[in-house]
Amino acid sequence: MTVDALAGAAYIVAALLFILSLAGLSKHESARSGVLFGISGMTIALLATIALTIANAWTTGAFIGLALLLVAVLVGAGIGLWRARVVEMTGMPELIALLHSFVGLAAVLVGWNGYLAHPEIAAELAGIHNAEVFIGVFIGGVTFTGSIVAYLKLSAKMSSKPLMLPGKNVLNVLALVGFLALTVWFVVDQQLWLLVAVTLLSFALGWHLVASIGGGDMPVVVSMLNSYSGWAAAAAGFLLNNDLLIVTGALVGSSGAYLSYVMCKAMNRSFLSVIAGGFGIAAPSASDAEYGEHREITAESAAEMLTAAKSVVITPGYGMAVAHAQYPVADLVTRLRERGVDVRFGIHPVAGRLPGHMNVLLAEAKVPYDIVLSMEEVNDDLAATSVVLVIGANDTVNPAAAEDPSSPIAGMPVLRVWEAENVIVFKRSMAAGYAGVQNPLFFRDNATMLFGDAKQKVEDIIAAL
Ligand code: NDP
Repeated sequence: MTVDALAGAAYIVAALLFILSLAGLSKHESARSGVLFGISGMTIALLATIALTIANAWTTGAFIGLALLLVAVLVGAGIGLWRARVVEMTGMPELIALLHSFVGLAAVLVGWNGYLAHPEIAAELAGIHNAEVFIGVFIGGVTFTGSIVAYLKLSAKMSSKPLMLPGKNVLNVLALVGFLALTVWFVVDQQLWLLVAVTLLSFALGWHLVASIGGGDMPVVVSMLNSYSGWAAAAAGFLLNNDLLIVTGALVGSSGAYLSYVMCKAMNRSFLSVIAGGFGIAAPSASDAEYGEHREITAESAAEMLTAAKSVVITPGYGMAVAHAQYPVADLVTRLRERGVDVRFGIHPVAGRLPGHMNVLLAEAKVPYDIVLSMEEVNDDLAATSVVLVIGANDTVNPAAAEDPSSPIAGMPVLRVWEAENVIVFKRSMAAGYAGVQNPLFFRDNATMLFGDAKQKVEDIIAAL
């Protein structure tokens, strides 16, 4: 059997393992085996690619390709291992966004190579090849700059407010029309400047699409870019004539698109408007309404309130992750339950900075699964709850989403914590959350603020108990 045939078989096995991986990752219990399937698939794919390159070098006598491949694998694996080891859980979305940008850039480079390397192609297929070059470069370019903007926004290096250029929707549509026109032109006449133009156009469009999306919609953007990176990889697969890249790209592309759709439904957002760069989303009204005075509470009074409570619901958010407060929170839960208080968690689908963020942290701190409920499961019980502890959450408990149609997060489902008898909000200041929107909850009569680092404050409450 030739190396080519063996590699082809290995690619099919790898593709199957990727499918098993995705299936495994869809449930808590099977997530670990899902990751293992993914690692095995990637290892097989890499080994097969290296074997193919060695065989190629052997027959042609050109070892430069092999040397480049080994250097690329070593450098990539080194950086990947280092980043994965040092990244904080709260920094994962930024890292993922940055990795998507690499996939996009790779697709752009593969496209350029497809033009510059002048591969021998039958005349009747040349048109298809040229269109592939353009499509690959375009999707890759949009993914590249879009992911960079997502990285900058998620890491707070750029404002999370949506960019509101006049006529932004027209600009997006013009960019698409421009892309189609350039593609047709390039298929007829392969001028280098056309390739340069489509590259620049795709960079500009990617930047503009993601810059136009407000902070509240960023979770969808991250999964949407995940999808784009998949299609970029598939496009590169067509150019490189690599079946595995096509299959894997299509898997990532379609699962990312589906995840974006599910998240849009969960957040009551229009899928089309988000993928079209905030199409139809009006600029938020600038007025930062005056809501009145907020009240503060001490850790000791909070401890008293909790011991007197019959039922407690904890709604954690990004701040719990930043403060690493999940461990003292788990400890507090154990103590309250020992005293006969009914304690449960209410988890918002986009609490934190990546889907499932809170569930992972609570599992890490060994909080029992059966008291960790989803937003839908807990929302109707909140009105009958004695105390809600909002630990480092803000946008996900903002009543403006339900009550103020002019709010940038209007319509997004939220945890209705304000319906409870008492609400204690743990945060360090009156600063806004990720979406940059003021939260009227903090000024309600039944709400009190416990200012300070969430971990420290929970520990203070435990000490007072
Ligand atoms: P928010 O980002 O709305 O609010 C977090 C709050 O935590 C802030 O108000 C901050 O206030 C507080 N905080 C920060 N550090 C600490 C600390 N050390 N101790 C105590 N409090 C702290 O978080 P939510 O989880 O409520 O909402 C998530 C937001 O992120 C949503 O807008 C969502 O759309 C977005 N998002 C979600 C993603 C996902 O997939 N889950 C991905 C990308 C974005 P202060 O500074 O005053 O302490």
